[in-house]
Amino acid sequence: MNTKILEIDKNSLKLSKEIIEDAGAVAFPTETVYGLGANAFNTSAVENIFKIKGRPNDNPLIVHVHKDYDLNTLVDYVPDYAVRLAKAFLPGPLTMVYKSKGKVSSAVSCGLDTLAVRIPSHNGAQTFLKYLDLPIAAPSANVSKHVSPTSAEHVFNDLNGKIELILDGGKCSGGIESTVLDCTGEIPVVLRSGLVTREMIEKVAGFCTEYAYKEGVAARSPGMKYKHYSPACRTGLYAYNERQLAINEYNAEHGKGVNVYIMCDGKTAKEIGVDHILNLGFTENEIAANLYSKLREGEKVAELIIAIAPEKQDGVMAGVMNRLKKACGSNL
Ligand code: AMP
Ligand code: MG
Repeated sequence: MNTKILEIDKNSLKLSKEIIEDAGAVAFPTETVYGLGANAFNTSAVENIFKIKGRPNDNPLIVHVHKDYDLNTLVDYVPDYAVRLAKAFLPGPLTMVYKSKGKVSSAVSCGLDTLAVRIPSHNGAQTFLKYLDLPIAAPSANVSKHVSPTSAEHVFNDLNGKIELILDGGKCSGGIESTVLDCTGEIPVVLRSGLVTREMIEKVAGFCTEYAYKEGVAARSPGMKYKHYSPACRTGLYAYNERQLAINEYNAEHGKGVNVYIMCDGKTAKEIGVDHILNLGFTENEIAANLYSKLREGEKVAELIIAIAPEKQDGVMAGVMNRLKKACGSNL
C-alpha cells in the first residue's frame, strides 16, 4: 500500500470519506498529536486500528467529534461540572469520560461501560470531523509504545505502507496528548495529565483529584499501565536537582565513545554547556510542543539520551513529566 500525505482540501476530504466509509483508517492532525481515525460505529474498522498500531486490546480509544455533534446521542449522563468544563475548555485538548449509551462499537472502549470523548480545536481536525459527521475513534498515529507523532512526517515514518492517507495539518501546537478526565463521578478525576491542567480544571469545577495508578491494581485508565512514548535508543532521566549526575554520566559515556545527548529545557542547556544538546525550549508550552519531535530527532542521532527533568513540576509540566518518565522507563 502506498501512503499518501495530502493537505486538507476538497479532494483529500473526499478520499478520506471513502476510506473511512470502507472501514479503513486515516491519519489526521489535532492540536495535541496526530490521530489515526476510524468509524467508531464499525467494529472491524476499530479493530483494524489496534492491528495497524500493534496496540494492546485492553487499551480503549478516544472518540473524536466536531463541535456541533450532539453528544447526547453517544453518552448518558453529563454532570453539571462537566457542562461548565466543556464551556471553558472545548474545543480543546481535554478528553472527557462519560457513561456510554453503547451506540458506538464496544471495541472502542474495550468493553468498558464508559466512553472517552474529545472535541479537538485544530481547524483541520474540525474540518475533517465535520465533513464525515461521524464519531471517529482515534488513538495517536504511531506504532504502539513509540513516541507520539506531532507532524505528518512522524506519522509517515511509523505507518508508511500500513495506511492509505495522512492528512497534513502541519506541526501540532500542543505536542502532548490530551488531558483525560473521568466525569462519571461526583468529582472530576484526572486520569492522564495534559495541557488542560488539574489546576485549570479545579478553578472551573471547584474540585478535581488526580488518579494515581498502582501496579497490580486494575487501572481506571488502562493506558496507564503500558510503556509508552519510547524512542528507539537507550534513555536515562535525572531530577533537576541531580543534573550534575546527568552531566557526569554524559561525560563518562562520551569518554567511552558513546554518542550521547542531553535533553533539557533551554535555561538548563545554557547552564550546563555540553556539546550534544536536545533543547526543548524555554516556556512550558514550548517544552510540551517540542518534547516528541526532540525524542524522535534524538533517536536518529543518539545511542543514549539523558534527560534532565524540568525544575517546575506542576501545571503543564506535570504532563511533560508523565511523558518523560514513560519515555525513559523511569520511576523518578
Ligand atoms: P491514546 O489513544 O494513545 O491517546 O490513549 C488514550 C487514553 O485514553 C488511554 O490512556 C486510555 O486508557 C484512555 N481512555 C480511553 N477511553 C477510556 C475510558 N473509557 N475510560 C478511561 N480511560 C480511557
Ligand atoms: Mg498513544
